[in-house]
Amino acid sequence: MRFSIVEKRIFFAKVTRYCNLQFFVMYKYVFLDLDDTLWNFHSNSKCVLREIFADRQLAQYFNDFDQYFGLYAKRNFELWELYGKGLVTKEYLNVERFLHPLRQVGEDNVRLAELISAEFLMLLPNKTTLMPHAIEVLDYLHAKYPLTIVSNGFIEVQYKKLKNAKLEKYFEHVVLSQSANALKPDRRIFEYALQLNGALPSDAIMIGDSYTADIVGARNVGMDQIYYNTYRPIVADQISPTYVISDLLELKELL
Ligand SMILES: [Mg+2]
Repeated sequence: MRFSIVEKRIFFAKVTRYCNLQFFVMYKYVFLDLDDTLWNFHSNSKCVLREIFADRQLAQYFNDFDQYFGLYAKRNFELWELYGKGLVTKEYLNVERFLHPLRQVGEDNVRLAELISAEFLMLLPNKTTLMPHAIEVLDYLHAKYPLTIVSNGFIEVQYKKLKNAKLEKYFEHVVLSQSANALKPDRRIFEYALQLNGALPSDAIMIGDSYTADIVGARNVGMDQIYYNTYRPIVADQISPTYVISDLLELKELL
């Protein structure tokens, strides 16, 4: 009998969980990232930018929307990594991610990038597409654990996203970097979330899609981690997360 990779992973996860139970290691609190872990940032931002691309007649500068979105998405990912390391400001990120695609086609127009940024931040929280199985898994987890959002996203958009996507009811606490005065992977944002719950690091597990922010960050503070890795290859020198999943439904096996 041959087993698929997912079946093997679930089997080993069950064995690991069984072994953990033997040593009385059980989680009491679950922390979750928001963007691209529960709320589908990639899909929602693509939808908003498609609207702005048409309204602002950006087709005059680019071959097509895909060229524009590809340039934006690559730069946006880089900027969030830099923002997490404290190397760029929120204000720089917000303009640069929209200025970069324009600059690549010879349209170095800061004013246009600022307008796109303002429209993007205004329209984005109205979108409500979630990651596959997010509600089913939140219903399951909410019945078993107090849940806490730990996110680097901006205050002015994250609460609107939670409200519009009807996710507020699932969470005991929402910890954002601006309120914790620290960005993931800084251990202080996780310590703040643990303190709010009255939890020890060994009591809680962090679930997120960013290796550098969620996985490294949680490990920095001594928490176990679940890496929701939908498409990125694991780099050889990366230390293994406690668990890796490619579908949120696997959480029902792990927790
Ligand atoms: Mg994320």
